[in-house]
Amino acid sequence: MFNRRKFLGSSLLASSGLFLRTSPAKILPQAGSPLVISTWDFGKAANQAAWEILGKNGRALDAVEAGVMVPEADPNNHSVGYGGLPDRDGHVTLDACIMDEKSNCGSVMCLEFIVHPISVARMVMEKTPHVVLTGEGALEFALANGFKKENLLTPESEKIWREWLKNSKYEPVINIENKKYSFAENQMAPGGPFNHDTIGMLAMDSRGDLCGACTTSGMAFKMHGRVGDSPIIGAGLFVDNEIGSATSTGVGEEVIRIVGSHLVVEFMRQGFEPREACRRAVERIVKRDPKKAMDLQVGFLAMRKDGRYGAFCIQKGFTYAVHSNTEDKIYQSESWFS
Ligand code: ASP
Repeated sequence: MFNRRKFLGSSLLASSGLFLRTSPAKILPQAGSPLVISTWDFGKAANQAAWEILGKNGRALDAVEAGVMVPEADPNNHSVGYGGLPDRDGHVTLDACIMDEKSNCGSVMCLEFIVHPISVARMVMEKTPHVVLTGEGALEFALANGFKKENLLTPESEKIWREWLKNSKYEPVINIENKKYSFAENQMAPGGPFNHDTIGMLAMDSRGDLCGACTTSGMAFKMHGRVGDSPIIGAGLFVDNEIGSATSTGVGEEVIRIVGSHLVVEFMRQGFEPREACRRAVERIVKRDPKKAMDLQVGFLAMRKDGRYGAFCIQKGFTYAVHSNTEDKIYQSESWFS
């Protein structure tokens, strides 16, 4: 019988002189050592909520859902859930997906009026024969299942949107982290709000099972109906319980083109360390259009089955938060451009 693990192991051994990589056959699950990692500084508070579950031997799926619900409910977070910046027509449309250790997955795209799209995505996964529900269909499904219809446009987000309307530049502007953007003046300026950033969260529970979640309000002032990478399984999130998991943040269009999170997991399957797997995915984006890449931000975050993790991004400034039995920290990701 064809033994894929042996085949992978030996084919990698043959080429291991070229790349510093480990055979996937040597990736041993870290059962008993729960771990959660997530994108950006706001991942720290989200990780804390996930840890409440992971630390008590709870399931990674429950942990990632509870974790990302924290920024979803935070009105001061203008790029996820309630208080997220709207599209150019003033609608707050949310994208989210979730994936478990058995490759079950669920997603909602362009969902309005629901504070916790991640929970709707989970319900799509668990209660329907489908993987994705969009727009009105997703809303109908949510309402039929007890979710409350709420206005997600906070006074502050509305103010930012109205400021942006003065110029109405329809192209979503890509901020580069650490510089902030003034929507009225259409230029980088201190004090303006960030116009994008997603929470992607990857967890491993005490059984060594991997699950992930990803949720966002997407690019601020996007065209109505625009969907980014975040709710697309394989682009914004991918989990393979045998190998590892990955998630992304940044300009979704660029991530979709390379099916980024799936690519990162496949690089780990080939034996690359999580950071190197993320770097190779970034390289795909940069090499496609090096000039354009200078104005783009994309960050990948990955966890391997053995509990190793890593990240890589295009521009300096992408951070990620890690919580385990031994640490509760925020790290700066390495970047393509310094
Ligand atoms: N990836 C998200 C999107 O394109 C935005 C972000 O993470 O910054 O919708």
